Amino acid sequence: MQTNFTPEALENPAMQASEKILRTCVHCGFCTATCPTYLLLGDELDSPRGRIYLIKDMLENNRPATPQVVKHVDRCLSCLSCMTTCPSGVNYMHLVDHARSHIEKTHRRSFSDRVFRGILAAVLPYPNRFRVALLGAAIAKVFTPVLRHLPGIGARIEAMLSLAPRMIGGRSPLERPQIVSSEGPRRARVALLTGCAQPVLNPGINEATVRLLNRMSVEIVIPKDEGCCGALVHHMGHEAESHSFAKKNIAAWISESEGEGLDAIIITASGCGTTIKDYDFMFRNDPEWAEKAAKVSMLAKDITEFLATHELPATTRATNHTVAYHSACSMQHGQQIRDEPKKLLKSVGFNVKDVPEGHICCGSAGTYNILQPEIAGKLRSRKVANIQKIVPEIIATGNLGCMTQIGKGLSDTNDSTPIVHTVELLDWITGGPTPKAIEKAGLKADIAINTLAAE
Ligand code: SF4
Ligand code: SF4
Repeated sequence: MQTNFTPEALENPAMQASEKILRTCVHCGFCTATCPTYLLLGDELDSPRGRIYLIKDMLENNRPATPQVVKHVDRCLSCLSCMTTCPSGVNYMHLVDHARSHIEKTHRRSFSDRVFRGILAAVLPYPNRFRVALLGAAIAKVFTPVLRHLPGIGARIEAMLSLAPRMIGGRSPLERPQIVSSEGPRRARVALLTGCAQPVLNPGINEATVRLLNRMSVEIVIPKDEGCCGALVHHMGHEAESHSFAKKNIAAWISESEGEGLDAIIITASGCGTTIKDYDFMFRNDPEWAEKAAKVSMLAKDITEFLATHELPATTRATNHTVAYHSACSMQHGQQIRDEPKKLLKSVGFNVKDVPEGHICCGSAGTYNILQPEIAGKLRSRKVANIQKIVPEIIATGNLGCMTQIGKGLSDTNDSTPIVHTVELLDWITGGPTPKAIEKAGLKADIAINTLAAE
């Protein structure tokens, strides 16, 4: 694609990067076939190619974002399915990230939009604030029939309240900075990103990760000052805020790496993994942070990526339950991790099945299911219907956002199939307790014959 950036615009490194990306697009349109918003809406401007044209026009003229650009970029899920499909290697992720940041700098959103986005950005990345907000949401749920009619924000409030759990559990011991020594001689030392929303909504995921790694003789450190990876605000275009979150994490992990050493930084939410693996790009022009960020991105591993290169503990339970594996977009498109989680589940006995149309997003996408409830709701129904076609006993995935989104779709259809994180299943079958969702569904796995023999 030919570009017409002015020489002044190209003095900006972000513009240079986007211009380079734009030149790689050959307008072939292959990406439209796998874009969820194009599939649903059928509008070229809601396809990757259409958005690329809109972004090109905005950036090369360095003009403020128009309401049309904002509408179609806001509708993009950042699912990155288009990047998997594109034969020319167009880095749509970096382009749309730049567009979102340009929108936030040059466009004044409506009052309700600003307030709503401001609240999400001020609450979700902070576990304590999020916990309080969830308590408020549990009470506010009863007012949904009234709140849903509020002009401009009613649908978003309804979506937000419907996704909030009725109850939340207590704090996990893993919310504190600490070192969990390995069982037996130490084979590896890793940092665990405990995250922001995940430990509040489902502390069992990190707890299963620590138990499993511990049995594999891996020492785990949860460093002081580690926090939200910045993905939530990054996808809202809040560049300075996301960089500030990232810097805190980089400093915490580099300090550990240069101290006792780190073999990996383990991430259990694939949405966070995609962002942390991109820290090297975010700070590429920052002389103080570039090298440290590149090291962190290199050390960052999804938990399944790490487990795939290490020996799992022996199974203590026998299972052949049918598991539908839902690959989160940030896992399959963002990080190109496809087979590892399924191979791990199969290796401990599960009968793993792919979900039809598995490349299409479930509509979760960070805060998308709150900000774009109508499209997100349609994608959720489509995903749940596809999962139900294979009649699974369990659904597994590697991203809490998808668990919440699909969980809501299941409950809407009175489907009680449990949805769990891949690592919870691996922990269960190799000696951990039964995951809460599995217990609630009444599913059991017998003690493995080798374990009985040892007893
Ligand atoms: S598939 Fe790639 S090259 Fe083709 S239009 Fe889409 S982004 Fe451009
Ligand atoms: S990121 Fe997803 S929603 Fe956005 S243009 Fe690409 S395929 Fe479409």
